[in-house]
Amino acid sequence: MLKGIAASPGVAVAELFRLEEPDLTVSLTEGLDPAAERARYDAAAAQAAAELDALYDRACQTDEKTAQVFDIHRMMLEDPDFCDGISEALEEGINAEYAVRRTADALAGMFRAMEGDEYMQARAADVQDVSGRLIRILKGVRDVDARFDRPVIVAAEDLLPSQTVRLDKEMVAGFITRLGSSTSHSVILARTLGIPCVVGMGDDFDRLPLSGVVAIDGGSGEVLPDPDEDALADFRARRAAYLADRDALEDFKRREAVTSSGHKVLVAANIGSLEDIDAVLAQGGDGVGLFRSEFIYLDSADFPTEEAQFQIYKEVLERLAPRPVVVRTLDLGSDKQAPYFGIKGEENPAMGYRAIRICLKEPHIFRTQLRALLRASVYGNLNVMFPMITKLDQVLQIKAILAQVQGELEAEGVPFSRDVQYGIMVETPAAAVMSDVLAREVDFFSIGTNDLTQYTMAADRMNARISDLFDSADPSVLRLVELTAKNAHAAGIWVGICGESAANTALTEFYMSAGIDELSVSPSSIPKVKRAVIQS
Ligand code: PEP
Ligand code: MG
Repeated sequence: MLKGIAASPGVAVAELFRLEEPDLTVSLTEGLDPAAERARYDAAAAQAAAELDALYDRACQTDEKTAQVFDIHRMMLEDPDFCDGISEALEEGINAEYAVRRTADALAGMFRAMEGDEYMQARAADVQDVSGRLIRILKGVRDVDARFDRPVIVAAEDLLPSQTVRLDKEMVAGFITRLGSSTSHSVILARTLGIPCVVGMGDDFDRLPLSGVVAIDGGSGEVLPDPDEDALADFRARRAAYLADRDALEDFKRREAVTSSGHKVLVAANIGSLEDIDAVLAQGGDGVGLFRSEFIYLDSADFPTEEAQFQIYKEVLERLAPRPVVVRTLDLGSDKQAPYFGIKGEENPAMGYRAIRICLKEPHIFRTQLRALLRASVYGNLNVMFPMITKLDQVLQIKAILAQVQGELEAEGVPFSRDVQYGIMVETPAAAVMSDVLAREVDFFSIGTNDLTQYTMAADRMNARISDLFDSADPSVLRLVELTAKNAHAAGIWVGICGESAANTALTEFYMSAGIDELSVSPSSIPKVKRAVIQS
């Protein structure tokens, strides 16, 4: 039995799918049969076209800019210069991979040489992207965009949130990784979807076979390759026990979370996309306490437009109305990177250029999001929250930008709600310590215990080797939670918790004694948290 960190509960038995960074290096082979290489190339091109068509259709539903990119790639496959270059190379008797690489390099070089022509410069990247897809197919490597025809357990060194959002989640029965920790964003995503997950397996990861069936228990962190009949029976029994426990919680979905002393708590959900709304409703969520809007950016090949964002915010508000929805503005950076932001590698990205720091330095990005949010505000109960606050001055700057955006919309005659509440995440020790001052400027606090623990304990939340130090129940973290709650209430504002420890029912009593007003957790944890509140 192999072991890792128990990151998302549930039991699964399925075939292993190894997700690897595709190796796209190619070498030259000469003297091949041109007709045979032509046939290989034609089959690869047909598959590439089918993949791009499917990606285009999917992107059309959420984001037309990304869809356009796939459309351009699709056209590139039929571009006469591209096709002629490849045909010429194939006729020389060289291998199809090399024919693609040689043609793509020549074309991209030509585009790149057209200095000052931004459009052509971008085409260079497109040519390389399409040829990467062709070479990957020719080399028989499957892609994260792959669709599966049966359930799989995805095994990877680590899972980037940008990969996780693109996976065929309907067919992903579980995740296992060498690296990662229980608060890495891919794990949070898995928990939201109720997918069992074992991470941080370290050296045990090397003991996994390359393929075959594996059984995983995300509640205990156990992974068993190639289970025999007895082991399969054991995992089936575990699965039945897990499902029975879930059934026992069924009643709590519909109940209000009120403590024995009469304190009413909102048990809301953390979500990353519109796809999660069904789960929020099915699990009896009182609303959304954290919509990680950066996932919209991660799922997009370029900056999502105001209109694309507006449609998403409008839908989430409409579908959950009259329940409150807290949308957190862009919290990109650290483990959540979108290439088009062009953020250079940093020594300490968790403490670097991220979240509100990007928004205040590049306000055009921020304004687009605020405009989309305000336009959507008339469709439901919107609350907007700002991440990674460390200073009062940031809050004042945000308010100034917000006032400008409101003025702009007013001048344009675009309606927006005046009842939107504006809050901040308290996820840095600086914000917790200064919470008395910050509370005077905002309508609510939401405590982000993931980052608050990381910064308070000086323990990287992504690093499995020090996961013992990353402890959201450490007295230092709990003191900051208590202080923040006290200062919020003294200023007459509400305070929630949206970090993963909101779902740690061993802490529910403590949170209730601190007077926490809202707990926001992954949808699958809602019934369990409601029960803990009711029983406290
Ligand atoms: C947190 O830091 O606790 C939080 C909720 O935000 P994220 O996990 O997205 O950093
Ligand atoms: Mg955070």
